[in-house]
Amino acid sequence: MNSSHWLFDMCMKKPYLILITAALLLAAILGVWLLWHHKNAAPDDGDGVVLILLYHTFTDGEVTDGSVFTTAEKFERDIQTLLDVGLTSLSLVDYAAGDYDRDKRYFAVTFDDGYLTNYETAFPILQKLGVKADIFINTDNEFMEHHFSYEQAREMETSGLIAVHSHFPVHEPASSYPVDEFTRLLENSFETLERELGVRPYKLFAYVAGDYTRETYDAAVGAGVDLQFVQKKLFDAPGLTLRINVAYDTDMTKLLASFAQ
Ligand SMILES: [Zn+2]
Repeated sequence: MNSSHWLFDMCMKKPYLILITAALLLAAILGVWLLWHHKNAAPDDGDGVVLILLYHTFTDGEVTDGSVFTTAEKFERDIQTLLDVGLTSLSLVDYAAGDYDRDKRYFAVTFDDGYLTNYETAFPILQKLGVKADIFINTDNEFMEHHFSYEQAREMETSGLIAVHSHFPVHEPASSYPVDEFTRLLENSFETLERELGVRPYKLFAYVAGDYTRETYDAAVGAGVDLQFVQKKLFDAPGLTLRINVAYDTDMTKLLASFAQ
């Protein structure tokens, strides 16, 4: 009896063995694919486990534009609500590195534009609560009124709670430039950050006014940007990451309820 006869014999007598073998083989292939896919998946939209929040600046007077201004009290209450329900503070660098537990829930605090209030108002609150934050600055705006200096940025980064990233050299939308000029300015902003604050482990970039195109996305990837932060998804692409703007009248408990779904 040769081997093919033996196999034929077995199949005729025990046909369920073929089914079991096929099922095991399929499960093994699926397992390998899932493992590979998981390992290579770029962080995207917080992976469903990181709530990425966007703030801008603070006022201690009347809140006239609640989408950009908030108050110290409201900010602290937002953060406390997140901590009270058991979310853990995560930095965007740890997020970019995939250095978090996918079975837990996190929040990441981000600020845009580099307002002085981030240093004067938010930084002490973040220190008090031991919460991390990432700030996207216009890298050429350090001497502008109401913006923090690179010296203040260094002080915040030394705390280990804050990291500073690129929000372009100036506060102008990406699509207002020819793509070559956009790329040059983008690279220029990362060079400025590195010169002023040292090497960044990841290149993180937040679009001014959330304005981007397929061309700027491709150009930024070409310039080595790891994560591109937007407020609306025009298309799906690796590293294109959504942030949720927290307005003065945003109810954090309601926002959390939609995140948990
Ligand atoms: Zn901005």
